[in-house]
Amino acid sequence: MCEKTCYLLLFAASLAACASGAGTRGGSDSAADSAAEDSVMESRQLFDADSAYSYTARQVEFGPRVPNSAAHTAAQKWLAAELKRHGAVVTLQEADLKAFDGTILHAVNIFGQINPDAEERLLLLAHYDTRPWADEDPDPALRRSPADGANDGASGVAVILETARQLKKAGFKGGVDFLLVDAEDYGQESNDESWAMGTRYFAQNPPVAGYRPARAILLDMVGGKDAVFPAEYFSRQAAPELDDAFRRAARKAGHADRFPAVYGSGVTDDHIELIKVGIPAIDIIDYRPETGFAPTWHTHADNLENIDRTTLRAVGESLLQFIISN
Ligand SMILES: [Zn+2]
Repeated sequence: MCEKTCYLLLFAASLAACASGAGTRGGSDSAADSAAEDSVMESRQLFDADSAYSYTARQVEFGPRVPNSAAHTAAQKWLAAELKRHGAVVTLQEADLKAFDGTILHAVNIFGQINPDAEERLLLLAHYDTRPWADEDPDPALRRSPADGANDGASGVAVILETARQLKKAGFKGGVDFLLVDAEDYGQESNDESWAMGTRYFAQNPPVAGYRPARAILLDMVGGKDAVFPAEYFSRQAAPELDDAFRRAARKAGHADRFPAVYGSGVTDDHIELIKVGIPAIDIIDYRPETGFAPTWHTHADNLENIDRTTLRAVGESLLQFIISN
């Protein structure tokens, strides 16, 4: 993904709107809060951060999951099998997509559904491909080779896999879909269309006829040390109620500190392609108000050493809390 810095001025002006949607407990929230007290404990006990960490490590073991590489294919097969193991009905969506530099990417979106007969659907998504170049690395000599993508790619997928595992264990009856999406990170700066190619294809060619989730939550870079998840601009514009509900769940799960009630940035990422076709979607993405994306972003420091279980836990528990209480 990349950042749309041109929107930064807008954020300052809109800060109050975001903060008011994420106020302190009480008022009209209080009934829902007390009703959800039991499920707070439940979500805390459910999500296993060690398991999510292992899911991150397993993806890194394949090597960089750059489209058209053997590591990418091996990871794709393993991810599909893992979703099936957690009870999902899995559809593989193959597409040859032309990247900005003319390369044809043999992309495979992995789409899994649990309780497919449930009418209302929640879509959870994360990209599993990794960027072919660590082009933000401080060492120019290293910028042409790919990083491990432990955070940018593997972490979001890991939280989704662990969530799927826990929902199966809990016998969850709601309609939840998982999209492990391809060809997100092959983009070029200042070229919006070059990113999120897998999700664009998915949104325009639903693998299940008439597929239209009520809500979608994108997880991106959710495993970094000291990560924080302020509101993302386009998420707030397109789906303020969903963003409020997620942040409420995060507070109930005890993670208000990771989800500050401020704007972060506007990001070109997979959620934009869902918003374009009318699906309310939010991006939960690490963004530091002072410095921007996680310091490991698109560098060789995006490796397992810089993955923090407490971050995976904060996002995973918040997500499970959201699923349980919505
Ligand atoms: Zn990226």
